[in-house]
Amino acid sequence: MNKIKQHKGKVILAGAGPGDPELLTLKVMRYLQKADVVITDRLVSTVILDEFVNKEAQVLHVGKQCRKGASTPQSTINELIVDYALQGKLVVRLKGGDVSIFSNVLDELQVLVENKIDYEIVPGVTAALGAAAYAGIPLTARDHSTAVRFLTYYKMDVIDDNVWKDLASTNDTLVFYMSSDTNDLLVKKLIESKIATDKHIAVIEQATTPLQNVYSCNVYEYAEKFGNSSYVSPTLIIIGKVVVLHQQFKWIENSNSNENYFQPVAKSKDALSRA
Ligand code: SAH
Repeated sequence: MNKIKQHKGKVILAGAGPGDPELLTLKVMRYLQKADVVITDRLVSTVILDEFVNKEAQVLHVGKQCRKGASTPQSTINELIVDYALQGKLVVRLKGGDVSIFSNVLDELQVLVENKIDYEIVPGVTAALGAAAYAGIPLTARDHSTAVRFLTYYKMDVIDDNVWKDLASTNDTLVFYMSSDTNDLLVKKLIESKIATDKHIAVIEQATTPLQNVYSCNVYEYAEKFGNSSYVSPTLIIIGKVVVLHQQFKWIENSNSNENYFQPVAKSKDALSRA
């Protein structure tokens, strides 16, 4: 149709950081000030939307919540991005944390290229880095670890037995995204695979937000201390020798709150309209 001829729209695929609104980059803030349309994930602070998006912009919430069912299908998100860009608009597609870590950015890049739409990718502070900093856990601290891995265990079949052995024997720091619901099993698998007794685990709820909580202990004590816990979303898990440093270097006390910092997906789902 003729709208394709006229378009000079552009899409900014941007990371909003893990929660604390001040972890937004200046670059993303400037794009939010110029945007015609902002299409945002659930794990983006409402402070960012309220304070930095210009008042004329249209804000669309397309929350997804792993395992909790309700979500905006990726195909709908792709259509929205493409439609607005083809109308000549500056679209900011805002994602929690960093754009490239455990996100559907590939689908979005593919439709942008297929439709010959210009884009930029602007990184953000991923949850692992935000959580580690705000929990006082240096991820590759000297004499503790020389590497860090970003992983997920949200589906039981993502990791096979050989991988468990490797994960249990490595000295790399392990960071698990989207895995708080399967945490008991994760710990069990690592213990069955004979993880070393000097490895500790930290479960970090709502990292970098005022509602942050960190629960940490030796991996072998986890079942007794925190087994069967249900954590507030979003939660990240860090495992390794470095986690022991949390006790010494933590600089934020637990909020001891179990309220939600981010809007639950059910609410944001029906907000797929002007906000
Ligand atoms: N692109 C995001 C990750 C999206 S996957 C990033 O780079 O951070 C969603 C998962 O990220 C959640 O299930 C949780 O494991 C983690 N996560 C995101 N924000 C978090 C936060 N503030 N605190 C703890 N975990 C968080």
